Amino acid sequence: MHLPFCVSRCRYCDFNAWAWRGQDLGRHVDAILAEARLRAAELAPQTVFLGGGTPSLLPAEELARLLDGLAEITGFRGGSIETTIEANPESLDAATAQAAREHGADRLSLGVQSFRPEVLRAYDRAHGPEEVVAAVAAARAAGFRRLNLDLIFAFPGQDPADLAADLGRAVALAPEHLSCYELSFEPGTPLTRARDAGRFPPADPEERRLELFEQTRRLCAEAGLRRYEVSNFARPGAECRHNLAYWRSLDWVGLGAGAAGWRDGERRRNLERPEEYEAAVFAGRDPAAERERPDPRTIAFDCLMMGLRLEEEGVWLPRVERIAGVDPRRVWPEELERLQREGLVELAGERLRATARGFVLLDSVLTRLAPGTPV
Ligand code: SF4
Repeated sequence: MHLPFCVSRCRYCDFNAWAWRGQDLGRHVDAILAEARLRAAELAPQTVFLGGGTPSLLPAEELARLLDGLAEITGFRGGSIETTIEANPESLDAATAQAAREHGADRLSLGVQSFRPEVLRAYDRAHGPEEVVAAVAAARAAGFRRLNLDLIFAFPGQDPADLAADLGRAVALAPEHLSCYELSFEPGTPLTRARDAGRFPPADPEERRLELFEQTRRLCAEAGLRRYEVSNFARPGAECRHNLAYWRSLDWVGLGAGAAGWRDGERRRNLERPEEYEAAVFAGRDPAAERERPDPRTIAFDCLMMGLRLEEEGVWLPRVERIAGVDPRRVWPEELERLQREGLVELAGERLRATARGFVLLDSVLTRLAPGTPV
């Protein structure tokens, strides 16, 4: 479920997020619940993820109403094995954390990004480092035993000591899970425009960023957080079950403005503008803006693209065949052979994995398999 509003827009963000300017949040909760009712037949969730945007922007009573409404429609509290809420430090207070926990969430993911005030300002984040500490305390006091912190590394000029300091402060808060993403300059974001206009430094050379990537893995491992996906680290058993479903290309249903979904071989995305989305669902219309049924080769590629991100697990090929209708070994026989000979991927029984070297070079491995690449 996607709640598309945030206190303000962060400069690097390319999600469907809109600065909150007093829009009626109660009406928006009604809209999401209206979509859930329209699509109730699709909803029997094993995991629930309330993301955004900033779900913790909702007043406690609206958050409770959203979770109660979803429970009534889907029965998720009885059947779900994980319910995550995303939160940002400036809006997660004791009442919101408590409402989330009491009404069904058992995992909380907090957008921290950095502990350096100047970096947070450069990103236009709406919080400082001290609010992170207070938000973690609120989450723990509300009873959250599964906590994730999101960090961004490779701010231009970041050196290993800076990264160690940021990770050290995150680890000191004892999260069960850390997500550490490399800063990316997505097309059309204010950050990319600033860089292109010479008002923001460009990314450091790849070699330097890879050094920080490796350092992240090492420092997390020393703190007992094992990398299980390119950017995700967890204590044993604390892996995010919802995100594992994405990486395993299982079905998911997206509710909310701009929410994407993948189910029964169909990809879809909802209308992005909150007011258009609300108008559609209140009129009883499906708010889908795009729907497509990709061909088997594209689906198989997507399965590899997602699954090779899982460091040890990799991709279980019979599952790909079940989902895509084709076995990647038949689609890319020669290229997969070459990648194995070059030591970039390995086959262990029916499981395809990136090797340690292939994992670092994952983008170029995938480029060689991408639809449109000659075989
Ligand atoms: S808080 Fe998250 S979703 Fe909202 S603008 Fe910032 S990065 Fe994007």
